[in-house]
Amino acid sequence: MDARIPVWMAVSLGLMSLSACVAPSEPSTVLVYIHAQNTDPPTDTPARHLTPDALVTPTPAVAPVSPACAIETLAPGAHISSSGSYTQTEDQAAGPMICRIARDSCAFGLLVRTLDTAIFFQEEEAAPHDDEDRRMHPAMLMPLSRLRDLVAAEWKGEARLVVSDAYDALLEHDLNQADPARKYSLHFEGRSIDLLLSPYEPVRIDRLCALAHCAGFDWVHHEHTHCHASVKAMSLCEVCSGQR
Ligand SMILES: [Zn+2]
Repeated sequence: MDARIPVWMAVSLGLMSLSACVAPSEPSTVLVYIHAQNTDPPTDTPARHLTPDALVTPTPAVAPVSPACAIETLAPGAHISSSGSYTQTEDQAAGPMICRIARDSCAFGLLVRTLDTAIFFQEEEAAPHDDEDRRMHPAMLMPLSRLRDLVAAEWKGEARLVVSDAYDALLEHDLNQADPARKYSLHFEGRSIDLLLSPYEPVRIDRLCALAHCAGFDWVHHEHTHCHASVKAMSLCEVCSGQR
């Protein structure tokens, strides 16, 4: 993608291409703010107070909540790709990490921040990183919205989808790697997300990971306490190629 095109256009194009992959159905509103480069995080200003270039209110064509899906559960420790492979690695299924996005970078400005009130975001990090559970690559919005609806249909209000981690600027993943310059995780470019349920019931994680696969994530890994899910999409670092 041409790095010279406006931010809002780049993201809109990404959402349009995503919409082309799913059958149209009743739209489900996802409110998302798009940040301009090197600006302070916005407050949760009502949409009417934002300029069209700063706000995208996509209404993804979320698929029906009972899509045909090949698996019922995913076993602890197992992973599955969008093609149904249990052997494909995350790199093969979702593409390798290209960079670690810094908060003051061009790529950071292309992350989206969802304000979806049907999902609980843990936001455990200290400010200014407390908003990072809500920040993600635009390609994450569609499968996340679909999973939200699948969870609602599965547990009928008895359980709520929780995001415990998404974009990570603090490099809190790949804990076994002590050298920050060699840390590796798709969380660092907003293409991975960690999912669980509230209330937390371990027995339900197997089913949640299967639903994440059904929702369209390109790679899902049952990490025992949660589901780690990733999307295959052009790295925002590549979109910002040549810019800081
Ligand atoms: Zn993860």
